[in-house]
Amino acid sequence: MATTSPERRVTLEEITALAKRRGFVFQSSEIYGGLAGFWDFGPLGAVLKRNIKNAWWHDTVELRDDVVAFDSSIVMHPSTWEASGHVAAFHDVMVDCRVCKHRFRYDHLKDTSRCPDCGSKNSFTEPRNFNLMLKTSVGPMEDTSALAYLRPETAQGIFVNFKNVYQAARKRPPFGIAQIGKAFRNEITPGNLIFRVREFEQAELEYFVPEDGKDMEAFHEWVERRKTWYASYGISSERLRFYELKPEERPHYAKAGIDVEYEFPWGWGELESIAHRGTYDLDAHMRISGKDLRFFDEETKTHQTPLLIESSAGMDRTMLTVLVDAYDREQVVDQNGKPADRTVLRFHPKLSPVQAAVFSLARNKPDLVERARNIERALRPHFRTQYDEGNIGALYRRQDEIGTPFCITVDYETLDDASVTVRDRDSMRQDRIGEAHLRNYLEERT
Ligand code: ATP
Repeated sequence: MATTSPERRVTLEEITALAKRRGFVFQSSEIYGGLAGFWDFGPLGAVLKRNIKNAWWHDTVELRDDVVAFDSSIVMHPSTWEASGHVAAFHDVMVDCRVCKHRFRYDHLKDTSRCPDCGSKNSFTEPRNFNLMLKTSVGPMEDTSALAYLRPETAQGIFVNFKNVYQAARKRPPFGIAQIGKAFRNEITPGNLIFRVREFEQAELEYFVPEDGKDMEAFHEWVERRKTWYASYGISSERLRFYELKPEERPHYAKAGIDVEYEFPWGWGELESIAHRGTYDLDAHMRISGKDLRFFDEETKTHQTPLLIESSAGMDRTMLTVLVDAYDREQVVDQNGKPADRTVLRFHPKLSPVQAAVFSLARNKPDLVERARNIERALRPHFRTQYDEGNIGALYRRQDEIGTPFCITVDYETLDDASVTVRDRDSMRQDRIGEAHLRNYLEERT
């Protein structure tokens, strides 16, 4: 039984330790000492991330008859990045500490005279530009004609295909193109677990609208839709804000912009940006490629460049948000009446990597084990399930820590009356449910 539930924020160290211990996130190539800015997703992390991407995809693509799916290549023609401005302008200004050799983003330094890592005074190099695109070469010759980049954002793959898609999908603006995919940025100071990384996933919606005066309406509709999405997965509204960019904070061509920010253990950080980008992107590609990317507007009988509303969300940052937001610790009274600490991830049941865990009360009783295994097998096609056995208190603790909303225990009574105990993660209430009703019971609650 929960006795207290103090409002308590998780630290980055706690979330990092839990993420590793329970198999959400591991450092990439850890046995070789790791590689800064790259991470691997463990058995639970891979499922959690997939669930988040599916939740985005479902709402942004599947529920909309005016949005089509897309999946473009990671390596694109290098001219793409000239048109997009990334070759000329996609850089951060950085400095190196001459003493400890650590590198910092100049705009992130609170004090530009002293190194925050080793404390040396006046040890920084002159600020330098640092292009954030990762380079590779394509084909057998590694000369400059083979130079290519790993895309720093997924959006450009959609822009250069605008005409292909609208013709093939038989769509006319207003309509959207969406994709989820990897993006790469050679960040100078990766950090905060998976917040700032060098390889990440973006979920992007590019919504093209005609110039009919309803573009701001479309912008606000998408902002509202994204607000509802975060709320429907239970992200706490006090820690999420939709920050409206002032004109001087937006690129010159953008008519409106909103940053979606979450209050992480170290402060507010951007998860997603929603922007009205005008005709800027398609204009640039038409200029550099010489190809016409306009559509024919039947009403006005003119060729038009559509206006663009963009929503660009980082899936890794969203996953970190879901982890941090779900984290809770509380004091409970254990089975022996003693106070104990309980760590629990209060994931929304749709996002939980495991939705129902099934236990046998004793591992040395074959009929209990078999019964529990059969129940788990029967639920498996409908929910994400897991079978386990052992000390019930320890099993609950483990499932609480990985955010499993329901634990089902098979005991001796089950053999008599075909009922099981279902324990609710959040309230820790235990219900006695007939085996035959389990599926319905879980369906209603997940
Ligand atoms: P920041 O200012 O934090 O570097 P940004 O403004 O450059 O981010 P955008 O270019 O707007 O980011 O990218 C859209 C989204 O992609 C971001 O809101 C974020 O969720 C995600 N993203 C961008 N860079 C990274 C990164 N290095 N690691 C993880 N996610 C990222």
